[in-house]
Amino acid sequence: MSILARIRTFIRSVSNIFRRTNIMAVHDSDVVQLLESLGIYRQVASGSVMCASCGVAVTLENLWAIRRHGGTYQLICLSPSCASLLDPIV
Ligand SMILES: [Zn+2]
Repeated sequence: MSILARIRTFIRSVSNIFRRTNIMAVHDSDVVQLLESLGIYRQVASGSVMCASCGVAVTLENLWAIRRHGGTYQLICLSPSCASLLDPIV
């Protein structure tokens, strides 16, 4: 199996894991893989995705949460007012 085929197989396996489960937390080192599996990494890396709560650009540095909304994903920034909307311990 070529290295490219191995990489594709790995990405598919990671993608399937993320699609089948509700993930409450993701380690920093896995965020890029998660965003790639959701097909939104480039938008987040370029700062072209806005926080669904306050409208600020969400990047890898201020990403707090991802939630599914209909057929798309909404990102939430780490602003305390936005992050607290999703905090289950309120
Ligand atoms: Zn926000």
